[in-house]
Amino acid sequence: MSSHPARYWHALDDGRIQCDLCPRDCRLHEGQRGACFVRQREGAAMVLTTYGRSSGFCIDPIEKKPLNHFYPGSSVLSFGTAGCNLACKFCQNWDISKSRDMDRLMDAASPRQIAEAAASHACRSVAFTYNDPVIFAEYAIDTAAECRARGIASVAVTAGYIHAAPRRDFYAVMDAANVDLKAFNDDFYVHQTGARLAPVLDTLLYLRHETAVWFEITTLLIPGLNDSDAELTALTRWVADELGPDVPLHFTAFHPDYKLDRLPPTPPATLTRARRIGLDAGLHHVYTGNVHDAAGGTTHCPGCGAAVIERDWYQILAYRLDATGACLSCGHALAGRFESFKGAFGARRVPVHIGAH
Ligand code: SF4
Repeated sequence: MSSHPARYWHALDDGRIQCDLCPRDCRLHEGQRGACFVRQREGAAMVLTTYGRSSGFCIDPIEKKPLNHFYPGSSVLSFGTAGCNLACKFCQNWDISKSRDMDRLMDAASPRQIAEAAASHACRSVAFTYNDPVIFAEYAIDTAAECRARGIASVAVTAGYIHAAPRRDFYAVMDAANVDLKAFNDDFYVHQTGARLAPVLDTLLYLRHETAVWFEITTLLIPGLNDSDAELTALTRWVADELGPDVPLHFTAFHPDYKLDRLPPTPPATLTRARRIGLDAGLHHVYTGNVHDAAGGTTHCPGCGAAVIERDWYQILAYRLDATGACLSCGHALAGRFESFKGAFGARRVPVHIGAH
């Protein structure tokens, strides 16, 4: 295990130290770990115990993050570490996020090694994913800086639960993010995730109004918990009004897992209903995920309505944008980051070994 000096904490008058990275504000005595498990007090200071350690590297299609408007069809070198600062009962990656066993962290890799591996495998970007990169912010920030120096983009897949000061440092080196908006009511956040809604909305507003980071939003629809017409109407109207109609929104299907293993999977009709509510709210790009759904996987040009990117799950079936992201039918510039389309990486998942055990 690798202990690295942590940033974002301060000493309290009562002898404890408080982590200032995320709104959980953990206050720690000597030897204690925060709720995320990977940040720990050692002596008078805080350390990150997973710096340079990973749960493994894979090359994925960027569509899997999911990002549909960020260099479509490109490949992304993806990794995570262990732990999480949320405690979602429905976690779809609980073997990693709930890991108390650092033996799971098989690959040791420095930020430079990761950037070099992405370059040598011709990946357009590196993604911090599988668990929330907020909790390994120092490692993610250093890696993103090494990537930027080599022209490789960095992508954060995150719940957006982070305080304002570290958020500035974190997103200064990120190029894109997919932010989970897990529900649109604070009660759900408190009881199902252990977090609060307001800081997540604050992160979305920050990204939209104070950064150039490209971001998309994902909402995992859980039957009976966050999928009512009223809640989805409120959520999609907030996105349209506060963030604008061009922010893509992904409604994805829940699979029974972890502590919510007695709930049914999300019916396809729920995803289609949610997508309709989002489109009715004025959003231009509302997708369905984790399902085969031709309509919900297609990007339409807001200018002329043409189907400009057709997808089946993570596969791109047709692509009708020029190198700047303009519609080939009408010239309307789509929101996102685009370059000349060189064919799609496809739905593969390629494990990659980096560094030493
Ligand atoms: S990052 Fe971890 S240690 Fe810090 S406040 Fe959040 S849960 Fe607690």
